Amino acid sequence: MDTKKDTKIYSRLLLDWYYAERRILPWREDPTPYHVWISEIMLQQTRVEAVKEYYRRFLEALPDVRALAEAEESEYMKLWEGLGYYSRVRNMHKAAVVIMEEHGGQIPGTSQELEKLPGIGSYTAAAIASIAFGEPVPSVDGNLLRVFARMTCSRQNILDGSTKKLAETWYQERISREAPGDFNQAVMDLGATVCLPNTAPLCLLCPWAELCESHAAGRELEFPVRIKKTKKKVEKMTVFLIGDGQRIVLRRRPETGLLAGLYEFPNAPGHLAEQEARERLMAYGLRIAGMKKLPAAKHLFSHVTWQMEGYQVEVAPEDLAGAEIRAGAQKDAVFSAEQVSCSGEQNHDESGRSSIKGNTQNSRFSGDADRWIAVAREELENNYTVPAAFDVYRKLVKP
Ligand code: SF4
Repeated sequence: MDTKKDTKIYSRLLLDWYYAERRILPWREDPTPYHVWISEIMLQQTRVEAVKEYYRRFLEALPDVRALAEAEESEYMKLWEGLGYYSRVRNMHKAAVVIMEEHGGQIPGTSQELEKLPGIGSYTAAAIASIAFGEPVPSVDGNLLRVFARMTCSRQNILDGSTKKLAETWYQERISREAPGDFNQAVMDLGATVCLPNTAPLCLLCPWAELCESHAAGRELEFPVRIKKTKKKVEKMTVFLIGDGQRIVLRRRPETGLLAGLYEFPNAPGHLAEQEARERLMAYGLRIAGMKKLPAAKHLFSHVTWQMEGYQVEVAPEDLAGAEIRAGAQKDAVFSAEQVSCSGEQNHDESGRSSIKGNTQNSRFSGDADRWIAVAREELENNYTVPAAFDVYRKLVKP
């Protein structure tokens, strides 16, 4: 592709349209760096029409960087009252102080330097640098992303940072070297007035219609692709590797839900400090002969992340001897505190899973929900399906 030629075609069509159709906005009349900065910050999260009067009043009271840097908080906050997102104006004040102290009162002239100032991100830095200083750098906001997605039939999620990078590269190849600020403002206007969001774009009025892939295919409304990522739930848990030197305790998960019917190591919700963990286990009637902290582990499911911490717990052999161990009804699977020993023998069911048959009436552990079993360590690998989520802990169980 002849990028240079492309640049000229895109720029020429766009700028011809812009000079004929552009919106008349107060900050465009005298685009000094300060004016562009104030307007771009105000325009974040706020409609153009609402910004006009705020912009006029702000400049009347604080006409330059020095005035803003020297203003009392009560003054600039009052001028911002009603615009919301007050961190914007606080950051502007901080940046003004930095400009006075470190840049001799001159707003830096490159997007790179501008981005170092408080409250100025890549979009605002590019807008100021291109409009006020003529740096050919695209200022990619939601409007430019949407136009890019429709122009190229991009299937990328526009909420992904990587899509913004693609759009920046695409615009960088096409931005006018002679009038980069006008180019950026032209695409902003195109997005705001022609290539409309959430509705059919007005392609008949678009200067780029002949170059637009989605328009050529009649698929304008399929773009942009927007996939909101739902925030994953995080569940913290404490995993116990309870053993007597010969055997290790497993618990069978419920028959429905996540990892249904699989075996796991007993665990409790939350990250328990050692003393809390010890008290929990002792309350279950276990006699703890030794206890040590295990490495933390994490497992990602599609909708939830487990953040695990763990303890290796050595108990007296008689605590597990021949036991069919039952957990309590509580979700966090408790041992009961009954202090009665039991005996039994190990059996395998049809699925190859083993259990310890015993006199449950006399079990140290009792309950009415999940079954807890103590299995020989070497059997763990062969006969029990412990989910990969517990791999870090399973590997610590030495036969
Ligand atoms: S042709 Fe239509 S879809 Fe394509 S950029 Fe223009 S307005 Fe948007």
